Amino acid sequence: MSQTITVFKGDGIGPEITDAVLKILAKAGADLEYEIFNVGAGEYEKNGKLIPDEAFASFDKNKVLLKSPITTPIGKGFRSLNVTLRKKYNLYANIRPAKSNTAVKTAFSNVDLITFRENTEGLYVGIEKQVDENTVHATKVITRPASERIIKAAFEYAKANNRKKVTCVHKANILKMSDGLFLKIFYEIAPNYPEIQAEDKIVDNTCMQLVMNPQQFDIMVMPNLYGDIVSDLTSGLIGGLGLLPSSNLGEDYAMFEAVHGSAPDIAGKHIANPTALLWSACMMLEFLGQNEVANKIRKAVDEVLAEGAVLTPDLHGNAKTEEYCEAIISKLK
Ligand code: NAD
Repeated sequence: MSQTITVFKGDGIGPEITDAVLKILAKAGADLEYEIFNVGAGEYEKNGKLIPDEAFASFDKNKVLLKSPITTPIGKGFRSLNVTLRKKYNLYANIRPAKSNTAVKTAFSNVDLITFRENTEGLYVGIEKQVDENTVHATKVITRPASERIIKAAFEYAKANNRKKVTCVHKANILKMSDGLFLKIFYEIAPNYPEIQAEDKIVDNTCMQLVMNPQQFDIMVMPNLYGDIVSDLTSGLIGGLGLLPSSNLGEDYAMFEAVHGSAPDIAGKHIANPTALLWSACMMLEFLGQNEVANKIRKAVDEVLAEGAVLTPDLHGNAKTEEYCEAIISKLK
């Protein structure tokens, strides 16, 4: 029986890349049924809700969500929908793989690293307090249970996938108590995985090392904000945000989305690269046990990238999203 999944179309380039991805999934023979919803800032303006009740109900029921990006206004306004979803469904492990593709020319080659970002606390708890007119305090929350489960998830992934090293990224030299706790827990858990090398690096040094010698990294695990920033940096190593997928996993629910945002600067121009969302969909297919379909799509994308004739502008081509999508479909075998 085919699996029903929930799809959120999102804002900006969201609808364009979602349409492209759903078309490729259908042509590749993914055994899926879809419940599709408009969500985000656009939906809020039309119907007064960021996520309609039926959309929440659909994810509650299906437990698997393919989500495209949502616009979050800066400064005043509503809380980020992404933060809301991650918190509400306890999607604590945000996994962001950055792997070089030989067909995509960048300053680096042979990058193959994965960011494990803690997804439910840190500075994203959204607790800010106006102390006086010119002073605001923001609260960073680090707890033992949330730290333990993301660090364990990183080591378990390393073990299951024959990876060699896990690096804990932190700022415990300054945030001695909060990041200090995260680091302490890391070294409590590491000895349970003697076959995997464990090391730690301060986040600023990590950024420098990533652009000097990214091949030294394998799996990286870190609190929420560092994971957000460092993983965007890792996308730059492999060809940009158009190529960085992610999964957000919890005990009961799973959400798959591109790392990038709604890209308002190119929205509606039909030049967005759908690959990050497509590879997120491949991670979803693998999660659902449809590995063959995922492999078929990954191979087709690799062929199109290698030929280099039909690429979107972020990869120095001049193809429209739909043309790139058709090129992938033509390679599906
Ligand atoms: P962004 O990721 O949307 O865009 C950054 C740059 O990368 C832009 O130049 C954009 O054109 C380019 N880019 C992103 N995705 C691309 C793609 N698929 N193909 C080609 N180029 C691509 O970041 P931003 O501009 O800082 O944020 C825009 C909005 O998105 C904000 O409201 C932000 O809060 C939101 N956002 C949402 C998510 C999410 O829903 N998961 C994630 C990040 C940002």
